[in-house]
Amino acid sequence: MNTLLELSGVSVSFDGFRAINNLSFQIGEPELRAIIGPNGAGKTTFMDIITGKTRPDAGRVIFGEKSVSLLKMSESQIARSGIGRKFQKPTVFEAQTVRENLAMALSNPRGPFDVLIYRKTPTGAARIEEIADEIGLSDHLTRRSGELSHGQKQWLEIGMLLAQDPRLLLVDEPAAGMTPAEREHTTDLLKRAAQTRAVVVVEHDMEFVRRLDCKVTVLHEGSVLAEGSLDHVTKNKDVIDVYLGR
Ligand code: ADP
Repeated sequence: MNTLLELSGVSVSFDGFRAINNLSFQIGEPELRAIIGPNGAGKTTFMDIITGKTRPDAGRVIFGEKSVSLLKMSESQIARSGIGRKFQKPTVFEAQTVRENLAMALSNPRGPFDVLIYRKTPTGAARIEEIADEIGLSDHLTRRSGELSHGQKQWLEIGMLLAQDPRLLLVDEPAAGMTPAEREHTTDLLKRAAQTRAVVVVEHDMEFVRRLDCKVTVLHEGSVLAEGSLDHVTKNKDVIDVYLGR
C-alpha cells in the first residue's frame, strides 16, 4: 500500500486556541480508515484542512505520488486533483431523478458539486447502471431524488462522488440517522469503495466503526492519540480516559 496523503506537523489555531496541534498522519491507497474522537477533537478541522477550507498555520499536507502540496491549491483545485468530500447532510439535487443526479456527477469528473453543469443528455448510461447497482438504487433510477429516504439520499450522494472517481473520499458520519439495515448496506458500500481508493470515515457510532473493520485513528485535542484496530485503540488507557472524561 502506497502513501496517498501525508500530514506532518500540522497546526491550526482559531483566536489563539489550537484546534489542530502538530498533527502527523498518513493515509494509504487503497485504504479504509475510520477517524474517531470526542467532540472538539479536531475531526472536522482535519477534513477542512485536507479540502482547503481551512489553512494551517504550520506543517505540510502532501498528496499523491508526486507529493503535491495541498496547501498551495484552491478548494476546487483540490477537488479536481481527486479529493471528494461527503458532508453529514445529504446534498443531492432533489428536483432531479436519481439517473440525472448520477449523470451530472459523471459528466463533471472530480469537480465540487457546486459547479456541476447540468447536461440534458445523460452520459455514460452503462456506468450509471453500474453505480446504481452498487449503491442499491437500480430500481429507483427514474424517481425524483427528493422522494428518496434519508439513507437512499446518502447512498446516492456517495454514488455521485464515486462517479467522479476520487482517489480519496472523505465521509462525515454516514450512518447518522440510518436504520440498522441501512447501516449494513452503507458499511458494504464503503468497504467496496475502499478496495480501489482511500476512504476516510469520520464517525461517532462505535458499532458502525466496528462493522467497518478497518484501522482506526483516535484524535484528541488536535493530535493522534492512538491508532490501530478498534479493539487495540479501545484498550488504550489514554483513549479510555478521554472517552470517560478525565
Ligand atoms: P470535531 O469535529 O472533532 O468535533 P472540530 O474540528 O469541529 O472538532 O473542532 C475542534 C476545536 O476547534 C473545537 O474546540 C472547536 O470549537 C474549535 N473550532 C473549530 N472551528 C472553529 C472556528 N472556525 N473558530 C473557532 N474555533 C473553532
